[in-house]
Amino acid sequence: MSNRVTVLSLLVEELREGRIKVVDLTQPLSPDTPVIDLPPQFAPSPPLTIEKISEYDDAGPAWYWNTLHLGEHTGTHFDAPVHWITGRDLANNTTDTIPAHKFVGPACVIDVSQEVAQYEDFLLTREHVLAWEGEHGKIQPGSWLLLRTDWSKRTAAKEFLNAHEDGPHSPGFHKDCVEFLARERDVLGVGVETVGTDAGQAGGFDPPFPAHTIMHGSGKFGLASLNNLDQLPATGAVVIAAPLKIVNGSGSPLRVLALVPAG
Ligand code: MN
Repeated sequence: MSNRVTVLSLLVEELREGRIKVVDLTQPLSPDTPVIDLPPQFAPSPPLTIEKISEYDDAGPAWYWNTLHLGEHTGTHFDAPVHWITGRDLANNTTDTIPAHKFVGPACVIDVSQEVAQYEDFLLTREHVLAWEGEHGKIQPGSWLLLRTDWSKRTAAKEFLNAHEDGPHSPGFHKDCVEFLARERDVLGVGVETVGTDAGQAGGFDPPFPAHTIMHGSGKFGLASLNNLDQLPATGAVVIAAPLKIVNGSGSPLRVLALVPAG
């Protein structure tokens, strides 16, 4: 019985032998981690602050620990459907009620890094997705759609947020594309390297913030501020993205991992 080969025993062996590697898709989380800038009429989300409780001192002679203060949407983080008004009345729309099986899923990675290098407001369209499918196969239901832009290589906060006089500029999705992904491909959600799932200029789109509006209104999720998407194949990786089980949480920082065939 103990020698029986199962999918999981094979997975353990493949991990041990290094034939499957674990790629960390997470930004380091620190007080310097950039947080989305909103127009001044809206309440801002604070950056992370860390307050020491004790560090092997009078406050705790043998132990070190900290108190964290941060917005739910800080650094590499998960967006739950309740984050947006369009998703507020859906079932299982909060970080504590989303079924756990949705925290593990395959990844379809669309590489638009060259396009984004030419044009920072690049938007992925339905046609781009269809062209990708022509090469890599149809996106299966329950997949993450990860948008590789190489934006995470902008490690300085100023370049990452890229605020101009007319607001932030960064790539994202065309409305038709998110409608297609949510309704015709039934993705788990979209993941991006930028500070949020919508393009920097998306506040002025119709509807405003289409990725949030349509994805969350369809019960789909978001992953923002991902790293290392350039280490993923177009298909074949499995993403593990489980937010903290915050009761009524709209999202949470998290560690996002991808299991990837080596070589
Ligand atoms: Mn968010």
